[in-house]
Amino acid sequence: MSESDKVILVTGGTGLVGRAIETVVKENKNETEKWIFVGSKDADLCDKLSTEKLFEKHKPTHVIHLAAMVGGLFYNMKHNLDFLRRNIHMNDNVLQTAHENGVVKVISCLSTCIFPDKTTYPIDETMIHNGPPHSSNYGYSYAKRLIDIQNRGYYEQYGRLYTSIIPCNVFGPNDNFQPGASHVIPGLMRRLYDIIKDGNTEDKEFTVLGSGKPLRQFIYSIDLAKLIIWVLREYKSVEPIILSVDESQEVTISEVAEAIAQAFNFKGKLVYDLSAAEGQYKKTASNAKLRKYLPDFQFTPFKQAIKETTDWYIKNYDQARN
Ligand code: NDP
Repeated sequence: MSESDKVILVTGGTGLVGRAIETVVKENKNETEKWIFVGSKDADLCDKLSTEKLFEKHKPTHVIHLAAMVGGLFYNMKHNLDFLRRNIHMNDNVLQTAHENGVVKVISCLSTCIFPDKTTYPIDETMIHNGPPHSSNYGYSYAKRLIDIQNRGYYEQYGRLYTSIIPCNVFGPNDNFQPGASHVIPGLMRRLYDIIKDGNTEDKEFTVLGSGKPLRQFIYSIDLAKLIIWVLREYKSVEPIILSVDESQEVTISEVAEAIAQAFNFKGKLVYDLSAAEGQYKKTASNAKLRKYLPDFQFTPFKQAIKETTDWYIKNYDQARN
């Protein structure tokens, strides 16, 4: 490695997005980049000293900060304080330790679900701080919003290029399929697989929580990984950038459930539990800023990505986060 080469530390490197970046990097090797993927076994990023040791060990020039306490709607609703505190600690430790060690670029991860609850659609990068988030996930949201504030501070006081990306809902191989803690797609996959594992017959019922009507944009983790690598190499602004599929690619939860049922070749019936909570009706995000830079980027078709994820899950069931 020469002095101009990049040493890229990926926190949260063992998670859904981190593993996808690892997959894409392996397929597109660049000799001037050394990638290091770390998880919570390598360092507890809630702890400053542990974070400092990690940076001392790897001496990164660039950081992709993905580590976070992450969970679906129901898990968020019960643990807002933990989401707030753990994420604030992790983010502050990573950003400040990066600054102390002269890291030239940090890319942190926000989310489209941290935007104001009452807003106009589509949401864009300028609207993050325009009002309170949805009450179901205020802890996660405020902790994430602070990253953007902190990035501005590091730029104003020290000229640092610490920026952030805003993905929409992500899914793919290596997701968290744990009941109660998972997001909607892995949650549905896990429940459906449990139903059909011992026989896929027409008399089985697959219950989807809620009406199935809410709309969401989902990005395949492999597509997101490609975009994050582009941000690392090309994007030179402190201002956040939304990494989402197009508005026209938004789908209803019932379309998601049907795609999953199709991918599993489910022979039974889908039913909707109207008594369950379902979060915001929609949170459509605009990817116009991304499209200005990358007008030709091709997202993997939704059904294909669902099929690839389902196939991965069936094949890797024993090692998956269940
Ligand atoms: P995962 O839950 O799959 O992974 C979380 C990662 O964070 C794991 O690598 C985990 O390590 C690590 N981690 C958690 N706590 C600590 C800790 N105390 N110290 C060190 N590492 C820790 O998350 P995703 O890949 O889904 O998410 C990546 C980023 O993308 C997050 O910042 C998330 O907020 C954001 N995001 C995710 C979306 C989604 O739909 N999944 C949507 C929008 C944004 P280990 O596994 O080793 O314990």
